[in-house]
Amino acid sequence: MGKFVPLSIPNFEGNEEKYVLDAVHQGWVSTGGAYITQLEEKMAEFLNVPMTVACQSGTAALHLALMECGVQPGDCVIVPTVTFIAAVNPVKYQFASPVFMDCDDSLCMDPEKLRLFCETECEKKADGLYRKADGSKVKAIVVVHVFGNLADMERIMQIADQYGLKVIEDATEALGSKFTEGKYAGQYAGTIGDFGAYSFNGNKIITTGGGGALTAKDLNAAKHAKYISTQAKDDVHYYIHNEVGYNYRMTNLQGALGVAQMEELPEFIERKQKNYSVYRELLQDSKTGYLLPFREGTESNKWFYSYVLDRNVVKAELRDIITELEKEGVQTRAIWGLIHEQKPYVDCTAFQIKKAKEYSRRVINLPCSTNLKEEDIVFVVQVLQRVLEKLSQA
Ligand SMILES: *Cc1c(COP(=O)(O)O)cnc(C)c1O
Repeated sequence: MGKFVPLSIPNFEGNEEKYVLDAVHQGWVSTGGAYITQLEEKMAEFLNVPMTVACQSGTAALHLALMECGVQPGDCVIVPTVTFIAAVNPVKYQFASPVFMDCDDSLCMDPEKLRLFCETECEKKADGLYRKADGSKVKAIVVVHVFGNLADMERIMQIADQYGLKVIEDATEALGSKFTEGKYAGQYAGTIGDFGAYSFNGNKIITTGGGGALTAKDLNAAKHAKYISTQAKDDVHYYIHNEVGYNYRMTNLQGALGVAQMEELPEFIERKQKNYSVYRELLQDSKTGYLLPFREGTESNKWFYSYVLDRNVVKAELRDIITELEKEGVQTRAIWGLIHEQKPYVDCTAFQIKKAKEYSRRVINLPCSTNLKEEDIVFVVQVLQRVLEKLSQA
């Protein structure tokens, strides 16, 4: 077998085995146990927020956030089309409708189009913003920090303020990304809007197998989210419930993995950043495309490395490029299928989607695991250029 470099694999170099075995030996494996609270505290400390709520998945965290925003059947929620679908599905869980927005050159939501939509397609009334098309109330915006790149939060927050919209940050890919300049200097992804959701799925910068977390600007909202994530249990001895709850709490086994991973997070971020620099160096004079930069005035966790193809040079289909790279030992992937084109969402409003379509033809994501060696990156870049050259001649 030749060399094979996977796209993104987890890294368990620390106390993972020790803590998970400890949880097993203690018998605390389910939705109670000290590792869950320890993870919540570690995250709160890292993010510099009063409280985080550990969940079974990032999707669960996003669903809790929408419920805490008061999103109800018939409401409208503004979402990006460039995202993993989990940022959008919880809107449907609430029987609300998504409206899809385009991306800017960071692949995150375009604030200019967001403003235009609110201004031209909606009407501001005393009690909030309403869509002209169907009279539905626009409640919230879900902003995804795509691949660890921070969205233009200054402008998005300003628009949300102006129109009275809640902001949910999908920071599932951006744990550790922060602003270094401007109004939000020093603040992390997920701590700027009303809610921030994180994911610890296997491909994220840290993992608990499956898992996630939620943070909220309003401490009472965070506390209430935690309450409904644990079946809204008001009395632990007599099982009294005053609301409909969910089984969304993280398990202690996941928590044990998470505590170990949190210990390594700063190191993981450093490696992601360093490996990105190695790629950038090797690709700086590339004739087939460029490495997508991260937003200025931020320090990103650099979770994913997006190579943007020059379509005047590379004519081959993405599918063929990805297949050929895989054959040559380099695993890559495209962005995502745009969500407004997915079957459950084809009837929803999509507002002036243009850049998203272009980028979805142009981006391939390169291997980015935290255990990549410099020689792996050299190999990836050599294979990439060879395959692109070959397919361009064909
Ligand atoms: C991973 C991810 C999620 C969902 O997280 P899960 O933990 O898999 O439920 C949501 N949004 C985006 C953008 C993601 O990448």
